Amino acid sequence: MKLIVGNWKLNPPTLNEAVALASGVAYGLKPEHFEKVVLLPPFVFLEELVKRFKHFQWGAQNVFWEKTGGYTGEISLAMLKDIGVNWVLAGHSERRRYFGESDADVNKKIKAALGADFNVIAAVGELQQGDHADEVLASFKKTAEGLDSFSLDRLIVAYEPVWAISTTPGAKPDSPARSNQIIGELKHAAFKMFGESSKKIRFLYGGSISASNAPRFLSEPYIDGALVGGASLKADEFTAIVSRS
Ligand code: PEP
Repeated sequence: MKLIVGNWKLNPPTLNEAVALASGVAYGLKPEHFEKVVLLPPFVFLEELVKRFKHFQWGAQNVFWEKTGGYTGEISLAMLKDIGVNWVLAGHSERRRYFGESDADVNKKIKAALGADFNVIAAVGELQQGDHADEVLASFKKTAEGLDSFSLDRLIVAYEPVWAISTTPGAKPDSPARSNQIIGELKHAAFKMFGESSKKIRFLYGGSISASNAPRFLSEPYIDGALVGGASLKADEFTAIVSRS
């Protein structure tokens, strides 16, 4: 089963619009689709959305690794758990780019989240288009260093070439064959780190996924699903991606 994650980023501006978007997605999905969908709205809408749409898997776009203390503006895993959330995204390229998150920070977030029984989607990807597989692999190794191999069934790695993310000027999707190849290399690197347990990690592609190109990415053998940004804000487009996966 392919996993389709919708990252709403800093959208929409109001709770009413968030509820309308979730309703549109719920309306467009068949009952058997819900288990393969994870939605990541802004923090402030999460509690209400979890209460109103119980059949979705809801997650946060970020989390802090510390449990409590003087960390103004941060949100803890316990706070998320308290409102019924057990999915979290870590290390999205926009967090890395605008908020200075490093591989070491992302590693701490993943360790804390897996340790708290969360499912974690960890994003890695190169900045520029070209032959940068080494950069992606190095980032993945630092990001995944020292993880407990017993928890890898709750780890999802999203390969997102930054140049392919729709908010990057001039963005265009990667080719399905190339992203499949990079994900194959990531799976190989994961095998070297964790052995057989690495086979429990799922690997997604993200970057300008649309209803029309999704089937080509999702039919590639190493690609276990998609992380969808812009297209997750349009209920019809997003449900078409899920239905075609
Ligand atoms: C993302 O931000 O994770 C993403 C993949 O965005 P988009 O689908 O808009 O390129």
